[in-house]
Amino acid sequence: MAAVRGSDTRPEMLLRRGLHARGFRFRLHDKRLPGRPDLVLPKYRAAVFANGCFWHGHGCDLFRWPATRAEFWQAKIGGNRARDAANLAALGAAGWRVAVVWECAIKGRHRRPVEEVIDSLDRWLHSDALFLDLAGRQAGEPA
Ligand SMILES: [Zn+2]
Repeated sequence: MAAVRGSDTRPEMLLRRGLHARGFRFRLHDKRLPGRPDLVLPKYRAAVFANGCFWHGHGCDLFRWPATRAEFWQAKIGGNRARDAANLAALGAAGWRVAVVWECAIKGRHRRPVEEVIDSLDRWLHSDALFLDLAGRQAGEPA
């Protein structure tokens, strides 16, 4: 996902800072792993992606199809989504656990407090769960 993401996006920096403050240590953008995960925590056999909602075609209110060049964007974002799915499968097959933290969990009107996001990651890292998908608040979820 290197080509579709600046390497120091703000959501990623918030995750890095929050996890580091709790004593987690990680590698950044490890090229040896599928999709070059933003954070890799070998001790927890875990890879964390901070996904931008536009580039990764998230079904949330931060994503909107651009009004022009529809075919270009459908191919581009469709390609990114297909690559994301392939990377997740390859990581899982290699025994990695994967967390995806969406931009909308941290930015926009449905964002969560940063501490809540870090709490969720903290709990997941200490669990046996293979996958975590963390997005902004859903309709009906208490604010
Ligand atoms: Zn989103």
